[in-house]
Amino acid sequence: MTNAVLITGGAPYGEDVADILVVDGVIAAVGPDAATDPRAARAETVDAAGLVVLPGLVDLHTHLREPGREDAETVETGSAAAALGGYTAVFAMPNTDPTADTAGVVEQVFRLGEQAGLVDVHPIGAVTVGRKGERLAELAAMATSAAQVRVFSDDGDCVADPLLMRRALEYVKAFGGVIAQHAQEPRLTQGAQMHEGEVSARLGLTGWPAVAEEAIIARDALLADHVGSRLHVCHLSTAGSVEVVAAAKQRGTDVTAEVTPHHLMLTDERAVGYDPVFKVNPPLRTRADIDVLRAALASGVIDIVATDHAPHASQDKETEWDNASPGMLGLQTALSVVIATMVEPGLLDWRGVARVMSEAPARIGGLTGQGRPIAAGEPANLVLVDPAARWTVRGAEFASLSRNTPYEGMELPGRVVATYLRGRRTAAVGRPVGAVAGQGV
Ligand SMILES: [Zn+2]
Repeated sequence: MTNAVLITGGAPYGEDVADILVVDGVIAAVGPDAATDPRAARAETVDAAGLVVLPGLVDLHTHLREPGREDAETVETGSAAAALGGYTAVFAMPNTDPTADTAGVVEQVFRLGEQAGLVDVHPIGAVTVGRKGERLAELAAMATSAAQVRVFSDDGDCVADPLLMRRALEYVKAFGGVIAQHAQEPRLTQGAQMHEGEVSARLGLTGWPAVAEEAIIARDALLADHVGSRLHVCHLSTAGSVEVVAAAKQRGTDVTAEVTPHHLMLTDERAVGYDPVFKVNPPLRTRADIDVLRAALASGVIDIVATDHAPHASQDKETEWDNASPGMLGLQTALSVVIATMVEPGLLDWRGVARVMSEAPARIGGLTGQGRPIAAGEPANLVLVDPAARWTVRGAEFASLSRNTPYEGMELPGRVVATYLRGRRTAAVGRPVGAVAGQGV
C-alpha cells in the first residue's frame, strides 16, 4: 500500500514556498510538480502555511542513559524527546552501565532505538575499556557490529593520556571513524565546580579554568595532524578554544567542533544562587565567551550544534551544588535556543540552521540517509517549524524522564510542529497538522 503525504504551503529553508510530496518515505517532488503528481490525489494533506521546513535534525551528542540508568532516561523516552525537538537521528554517548565499549552493548542500544522507532539511534562507542583511560576498547568490533559505530568518545571524561589518544586516532583511520574528545585536562580541573573566574572567586567555588579545555584541544589537533586522522571536539565552551580550532583548521587539520545550546545562551552568573540545574561540564562561561562562540558558529569555525542532552534523576540533581551531577536536558529546547541566540540576532539564516543542526552533524557522524537536501529522491526526514510561535518551557511536560532543564519558565521562540522520519510522523505539537478530514493530531 502506498503511503503518501502532501505538505502544502511550507517554506523549505525559510525561503520560497513549495509543496512537498512524500511517497513511501521518500521525497517524490518539491514545488509545482508536487500537487499535480497523480499520487498527490490520494495523499494525506498537511497544511504547513507559515511554517519553515528543514531537514530532520541530527544530534551528535546525546545521553540516553540506557542501559543502567533507566530512572533518568531510556532509549524510548529519549527518542520521544528527540522527535519532539525536531530530530530524526541522535548519537548516544557510551557512558552507560555497562559502558558501551563492546559490540554487544552498542548493538543492544541500536536495537532499542529500532524498537522505539522514533529517531535513528546511533551508538557512540567508548574509546577505552570502561572509559577508564587505560587501554583501547574493541573499536573495530564495534565498527563492524550491527550498530556500525563510526564515532568514539569517552565523553564525560577526557582521553587524557596522549599516547592512548594517538593510538585511538590511528586506529579509527582505517574505517573512517572519528574520535570525539571531551577536552578537559584532569589535573587542571580536579574538584572543579564552575568556570574559573570572577564569579567563582566571589562564590568560593573551585574553578574550571578555560586553559584546561584549550590545552587538550591544541594537543589533540596536533596529534590528529601528526597521524593524519580526524578529530571532533565536543562542546567547545571558551573563546580560547575557538582560537585554537580556527588555527588548526587554518593549518589544514581535519578537525570539527561542536557547541551546545546552553553555552550559546547561559553564563556563569547563573551559578549565583547555587541552583545545581546550572551545573554542567564544561561549565557555563562568560558573556565574552558566548559572543565568540556565536560568531564562530556563524562563520563555520564551529561546525555544529550538539545538545549534550544529559538527563539526571532528581536525587542526583536536586541536591547541594558540590554533590550534584553535571548536565542539562537539551533535546526539546535546542532548536528554540538556536533560534533565540543565532537566528533572531541575524547570525544564522534557516539554511545555516539546517547546516549546523542537520547536514554537518550527519556528515561528521558518517550518516548517508540523514542531513540530506529537501529534494526529490531524498529520504523524507523533515521537520516543520513555526517560526512565529513562542512557548514557555515546562520541564514537567517534556517526554524526557528527567526534569533538569535550565530554561524552566523561560519563553522561547520557534516551535516544532511536526517531525517526519522517512515519511512517518513521529511528533506533532503546537498546533494540529495532518488534516486528514476530521482527524486532527
Ligand atoms: Zn562531555
